Amino acid sequence: VLERSHVSAGSSALSAGVYNVNATDPFHVEIRVRSREIVDALERDHGLHVSRNGHMRLGRSERHLELFEGAVAMQQELGIEPSAIIHPAEARRLVPGLRVDDVIAALYNRLDGHIDGPLTCGVLLDIARSHGGELRSQTAVTRLESGKDRRHRLVVGDGGHVDADVVVNAAGPWAERVGELLGAPLPLTNELHEMLRVRLPEPLARAVPMVQEYIPGDDKAIYFRQDDPQHLIGGLHTYEASGAASEDPDTFRRSVSEDSFLTAAQRIGARLPVAGLGFAPLLTGLYPIGALDGNPMVGPYRHDPTIVAAGGFGGVGLCYGLSLGRCVAEWVVHGEPRTVPAASRLLPDRPGGVT
Ligand SMILES: Cc1cc2nc3c(=O)[nH]c(=O)nc-3n(C[C@H](O)[C@H](O)[C@H](O)COP(=O)(O)OP(=O)(O)OC[C@H]3O[C@@H](n4cnc5c(N)ncnc54)[C@H](O)[C@@H]3O)c2cc1C
Repeated sequence: VLERSHVSAGSSALSAGVYNVNATDPFHVEIRVRSREIVDALERDHGLHVSRNGHMRLGRSERHLELFEGAVAMQQELGIEPSAIIHPAEARRLVPGLRVDDVIAALYNRLDGHIDGPLTCGVLLDIARSHGGELRSQTAVTRLESGKDRRHRLVVGDGGHVDADVVVNAAGPWAERVGELLGAPLPLTNELHEMLRVRLPEPLARAVPMVQEYIPGDDKAIYFRQDDPQHLIGGLHTYEASGAASEDPDTFRRSVSEDSFLTAAQRIGARLPVAGLGFAPLLTGLYPIGALDGNPMVGPYRHDPTIVAAGGFGGVGLCYGLSLGRCVAEWVVHGEPRTVPAASRLLPDRPGGVT
């Protein structure tokens, strides 16, 4: 692994860390189910700390309800314990104080939760090292040359080089730039997202599930999840790019704007109208959204299958990176994705987007 800075130097350290199986289309449900299986294995076999608080999406229309029913059917087909479609009163029992007067039903999975980005990257690195993998930190890839014995010669920042049979571009919000120097396009829209921290008036007696208002197809909406007994973190989420210009990953704004702070605080406060909530800005970070159609770009390029894309993971990459990252390895070793076979729809030079 050639890393220009240190492990978890990019978006992975800025993530809310949420993983869940509550997507609303079959392909994405499968990616999430396989990722969650990897979370379970990392916890079981490698001691990754997992907060399994549960995850719920709030349905406020008949369309939402239909999407929830489709998600549950797909989860059943994949053989996992399906999410429950719960009554608003049950959602409020799970999250005391939650406003549910506009909620028809919630999609709730008790086995979902969140993981820490840097801890997860650290565990993955330990596994790689135990199999002979090596990390070179402070080693930025700056150029690609044709190698002699091996196919590629990567020139790195200090003027040295590394030879490789296969090159994987997993540079997060920098992946478009790295794609350019590899001659393998990975167009991105890097979108700024902001998070805030919410202080509860009293510590919670028990863990509460993450609450997600956002439903694909609708506008940006809020989410919040428990961070410790007296704090939540939250923000506004969407899978889609807003149309704003792509942010520069080296110079994007690091402070939460007053506008977005007030909007998110007001909307979280409206969903959780508990007296005495306190709000503070937390952080900003980039969603590296695949510019082709909003979906990730994963797999080999047609013009040179020894260059492999692993990017465009948007606001779900800590979770998706687990199963789709394994698919990348499978592309390299087996010539096909096996963990999520349908991931061949995500090839980076697919014509008009996901087929
Ligand atoms: C506010 C926020 C909340 C989020 N919440 C969630 C969530 O709840 N759940 C979820 O699943 N996802 C979430 N995400 C999305 C998730 O964080 C990203 O999709 C994911 O971290 C992308 O991972 P990555 O490995 O592709 O990129 P990164 O983690 O950015 O890693 C890319 C790495 O490439 C290195 N690099 C760059 N250029 C070079 C070069 N030339 N040579 C060598 N190395 C280079 C960088 O230093 C960096 O370490 C969130 C993101 C944000 C910003």
